[in-house]
Amino acid sequence: MISLRNIHKTFGKQTVLNGINLDVEKGDVVVILGPSGSGKTTLLRCVNFLERPNDGEVSIGDFTVHCKHPSKQDILKLRRKTAMVFQHYNLFKHKTVLENVMEGLIVAQKVPKEEARARSLEVLEKVGLSAKINDYPSQLSGGQQQRVGIARALALNPEVILFDEPTSALDPELVGEVLSVIRKIAREGVTMIVVTHEMGFARDVSNHVVFMDGGVIVEEGKPDEIFVNPKEERTKQFLKRIT
Ligand code: ATP
Repeated sequence: MISLRNIHKTFGKQTVLNGINLDVEKGDVVVILGPSGSGKTTLLRCVNFLERPNDGEVSIGDFTVHCKHPSKQDILKLRRKTAMVFQHYNLFKHKTVLENVMEGLIVAQKVPKEEARARSLEVLEKVGLSAKINDYPSQLSGGQQQRVGIARALALNPEVILFDEPTSALDPELVGEVLSVIRKIAREGVTMIVVTHEMGFARDVSNHVVFMDGGVIVEEGKPDEIFVNPKEERTKQFLKRIT
């Protein structure tokens, strides 16, 4: 359903992605692991063209964008098929929780206000924030703010949600509540690609694990294959260091 073909990305003279191929099926939970600087976040941001790949193709469903000469309309169309959950939440500080979730529906999807409100209330209930809809982000804990970020993504009903290290800015005691919300929506069949350093979570939530190093996919497979029987030396060394 989502396919990345031969994705290349450079920043100046530095090659950060060097020919990435990846297929993600509907309902898949794909976790991307790898050392710092291996290109995980850049790859995620190439899926929705927050970073523009220098070469390759990104397809979602039957819609394909060729990375060399994408039109603005194509990028917008691709972006609307995705939603992203950011490390630092990226909420509108001067909008309430409910308004934060409604915003994308009204502005990007042109959903009528009452319908946007109903849909937003529904997803906010799902992430356990019904009691906080009129609060502002500054009144919330980091974990609650990230759950608003997840609700906002979920409300858009995208074909894929891209999670960029969703718990790495959180105090350790708040990580669990965010991971359990992600687990819950993963079980409901939402397609997602998750960059994370949370190994236990990666292992139990994903059905496909990708290990990156140096801008390439070194190894990928089912979580048990990668965590229990990694084949590549670089994967073994990485797992030894972090588990
Ligand atoms: P981490 O786990 O530390 O977040 P990562 O695997 O997600 O790392 P990226 O954030 O994708 O790695 O970065 C890969 C490389 O690209 C790094 O060397 C980084 O400095 C560089 N890089 C990323 N974004 C930019 C940018 N906008 N401009 C220049 N260099 C960048």
